[in-house]
Amino acid sequence: NLEIIFTGRSNVGKSTLFSQLFGVNVRKGKKPGTTIAPNFYHYRDFLATDLPGFGYVKGVSRKFNERVKDFIVRYIEDYAERIAAGIIVIDSGSFVEIVERWDRRGYIPIDVEMADFLRDVGIEVVVSANKFDKVDSPEETIEYISEKLKVSRERIIPTVAKKGDVGGVKNFIRQIFIKNNRHDL
Ligand code: GDP
Repeated sequence: NLEIIFTGRSNVGKSTLFSQLFGVNVRKGKKPGTTIAPNFYHYRDFLATDLPGFGYVKGVSRKFNERVKDFIVRYIEDYAERIAAGIIVIDSGSFVEIVERWDRRGYIPIDVEMADFLRDVGIEVVVSANKFDKVDSPEETIEYISEKLKVSRERIIPTVAKKGDVGGVKNFIRQIFIKNNRHDL
């Protein structure tokens, strides 16, 4: 098995991205705060997993959020061996503001925590800098994301999932296959 996971805060466009990449319409009618179950896309022995979104959303209790986080951490620990890459999806339009706010309060921003955690368990980190249509200064934004998440610039891929602009992530997934000698897929 070769697995790629998608993770990110709620409302960053993660399910839109997943649908665009794999042609499956996920999380239809599922409101945040109602389900923890991941969405899977299976092809032969390739598995793409859309993990539940985390972080604060209106109408979702702190307790539920904690359960979601625990589930995600557990899932990643349990399957770390077969997970070739973790794609952290962010909302590029609000990333700077959210990270600064957390930094100011002395907390580690949740996306920073996730990037560190993935690296700790040996999973390659890639960032889908989604909602890139909302970004005013592309260069500075990429630089900022790179610095905060400690991910090299080549691994930060701007996407506009809503418009189907996800080619960079597709290419990256292709590279993962090649690296893992899976030209058959
Ligand atoms: P999820 O909670 O991360 O799965 O987010 P969704 O896929 O449900 O998307 C949340 C909202 O963001 C929806 O209204 C999408 O239409 C919108 N969205 C998704 N991708 C983009 C994008 O690239 N740019 C913009 N501006 N909006 C997007």
